[in-house]
Parts: sequence; structure tokens; C-alpha cells
Amino acid sequence: MNIILMGPPGAGKGTQASLLKDKYNIPHISTGDIFREAVEKSTDMGIEAKKYMDKGQLVPDEVTIGIVSDRLAQGDCAKGFLLDGFPRTTVQAQALDEVMKKMGKAISVAVNISVSSNILIERIAGRVSCGKCKTVYNLTLLPPDNTHTCVKCGGELIQRDDDKAETALKRLEVYQAQTSPLLEYYEKQKVLVNIDGDKGSEGVFEIISKLLDALQ
Ligand code: AMP
Repeated sequence: MNIILMGPPGAGKGTQASLLKDKYNIPHISTGDIFREAVEKSTDMGIEAKKYMDKGQLVPDEVTIGIVSDRLAQGDCAKGFLLDGFPRTTVQAQALDEVMKKMGKAISVAVNISVSSNILIERIAGRVSCGKCKTVYNLTLLPPDNTHTCVKCGGELIQRDDDKAETALKRLEVYQAQTSPLLEYYEKQKVLVNIDGDKGSEGVFEIISKLLDALQ
């Protein structure tokens, strides 16, 4: 199954992706995670990407498309993949179609997790992740026992720089302007499924799992 997970920042794409990759045993490809790792390692690409990420803007299409094309060509994607945070622009979606066509594949489903804007802002503000193992927690939804350390590995819980209020608002604006038109793009391709993401992560996981089980 070749799956795209869509939805605004804070919709819970990352949380769902990490549950789904384990259940369906397919690689989780998060462009945000790839960029954050490159920033942490201070690679040339990371230094370039950081300029955009810090402002809540999108990294240029040519950089992002190159990364995803290379990743999809790797052997572990042969049995399917889960794209999280890509595509985010029409140019990226068209490039993905081209790559898929060349590989003789097609998108199985684009799952759009929609969440009310007041809930999104609350979720982004409460989101922290472990600096070591990267587990994501939400201090408003499901706080860990200790709000400073990771339950799994004891690492320190930190807030992403781009989750701070001003940048988070900018990311929501960028989503509305550049990414939300993709819903129509995938609707036209008849692969779009909308899911009500206000329900919380367990309810959403159950709905997506049922949907994917039916597609298998
Ligand atoms: P995310 O973790 O998916 O919210 O992504 C964090 C940041 O990485 C975004 O705000 C962008 O700056 C950058 N980014 C992630 N995915 C993409 C993409 N598909 N296109 C452009 N920039 C991206």
C-alpha cells in the first residue's frame, strides 16, 4: 500500500504514522523528520532547510522532491510506504505522480486528517518530543507522568522551535495557502479519504486501520 497522510500541522500525522508503520510494516517517510535530522547533523542540506523551517516556510520544492525521490527508490519501499508531510505543494504532488509512474506504481490512498483550528493551536502549543528517542508527547492530551523526561528512555522533553506560537501560526497559514489545495488534487484522483481528527489518536488510528484493512 502506498499511503499519503495529509492534514495541517498538529493534526496528528506523525503520531498516526508511527502507529501505522508498525501495524502494516511499511516505512514511514517524514520529510519533516528528514529535515530535522539534517539540521541536527548540520549537513549542507540541513543548514539550507533550517532557514525556511525557522520561519515556518516550506523548504524549496526541488530540494524536497529530490530527497523523497531518492528515498522512494530504496528497496524497503518496494512493498509500500507511508508518506507524512509530503507532498505539500501542487508541484510536489505532480513530481510524486511522475516518480510513481516511472516505478509502475500508484497512490493507494491519501488520508486527510482534519482537525478544528482551535484544537490544532492547542495541540501544537502542548507538543513536546524526546530529544533522544524522538517520541512525541502532548502535554494537553496525554501528558507523560513526568512532563520533563521521556517515559521510554529518560531523555529530556523539548518543544520544537517551529512549534512556538508565531512560527506555528505561520505554518498554519502556509498549510492553508499551499497545501490545502492538494485535497482537491487527490479528490480528483479518487484516492482522498477524509477522517475526523478531533476524536483523538486512538479513535483516529482505529478508523484509519479499518480503512487500510479494507484496501489490502
Ligand atoms: P513537519 O514536521 O512535517 O511539520 O515539517 C517541519 C518543517 O519542515 C516544515 O514547516 C517545513 O519547513 C519543512 N518541510 C517538511 N516537509 C516539507 C515539504 N514536503 N515541503 C517543504 N518543506 C517541508
